[in-house]
Amino acid sequence: RYANIGFIGTGNMGKFMATNLINAGHHLKIFDSNKQCLVQFQGKSNAKCVETPADTVKDSNFVITMLPIGKIVRDVCTGNNSVFGAAKPGTYVIDCSTIDVATSQKLAEIAEKKDIHFVDAPVSGGVTGAEKATLTFMVGAKTSNDFEKVKEILSVMGKNIVHAGTNGNGLAAKIANNMLLAISMIATAEAMNLGIKLGLDKNVLTKLINSSSGRCWSSEMYNPVPGIMPTGAASNDYNGGFACELMQKDISLALDAANDIKVNIPLGEHASKIYNNLTKCGFAKKDFSVIYKYLNENPKA
Ligand code: NAD
Repeated sequence: RYANIGFIGTGNMGKFMATNLINAGHHLKIFDSNKQCLVQFQGKSNAKCVETPADTVKDSNFVITMLPIGKIVRDVCTGNNSVFGAAKPGTYVIDCSTIDVATSQKLAEIAEKKDIHFVDAPVSGGVTGAEKATLTFMVGAKTSNDFEKVKEILSVMGKNIVHAGTNGNGLAAKIANNMLLAISMIATAEAMNLGIKLGLDKNVLTKLINSSSGRCWSSEMYNPVPGIMPTGAASNDYNGGFACELMQKDISLALDAANDIKVNIPLGEHASKIYNNLTKCGFAKKDFSVIYKYLNENPKA
């Protein structure tokens, strides 16, 4: 009933995901290149901290990776003391990181030759979703059998587990969604700023947009104007939430993918420039809805 699971990358997201697996009774072997990230797991009865990615694999049926970027996922899977080197045939490697589609598909190909099942399963829901086990997993799995196998484990860490299609399709869904979010947040901030500067009350404008055709998640659930959502990042000087630098990373993945396959994304490109500029203006760590503050404080020249 309980699985042996390797877990690699216990940063902001991974530490909560691993904790939820441990609390559910699974047996974990945990690795992170930063020893500080392992301290909280030392001494837990069904968790063991290990020295290399390969060490997480021994006796494990599943290995989960939650790492910053594609190059690191590739190194952990195929470099020295790697996951793929140590995994026995039939092992499921579930990469939950947000990385480029091309690297993920390449890793799935290499894995298949070794009879390892590689699945991309990026998440939406942020650190709070990771902590509360309410994440959405967008799963790119080659077969429905692969999907069903990983779903059992992912369900411990999230509440929506969706089979997006074959290898790479989970990531494709994730970056398409986040590009749309980046664009819609900028659009919402522009509309709110214009309306308020034209003399509208912020609450009246919000109510009107949210009952009209401009309504979207950014206007309704995550309004960027301080004071509209009392518990949102915008009302806390844009602290917490989803950092501009992380949004910038996700849009650049969309840009790379679009370039690779020659898809036109003019607003995605423009959004990338805007978030790039925000990170350079000292807002890198602020929530991405800080675009409203920037527009509000920087009138047209
Ligand atoms: P993080 O930087 O906090 O954690 C990454 C962890 O990986 C760190 O603990 C780091 O020490 C470790 N690491 C780096 N290189 C390693 C290596 N070679 N071997 C082993 N461990 C290594 O990042 P995070 O916020 O937890 O995000 C992880 C992934 O999830 C990213 O791809 C991110 O884009 C994605 N994501 C994050 C959020 C969020 O809100 N933070 C939301 C959705 C998706």
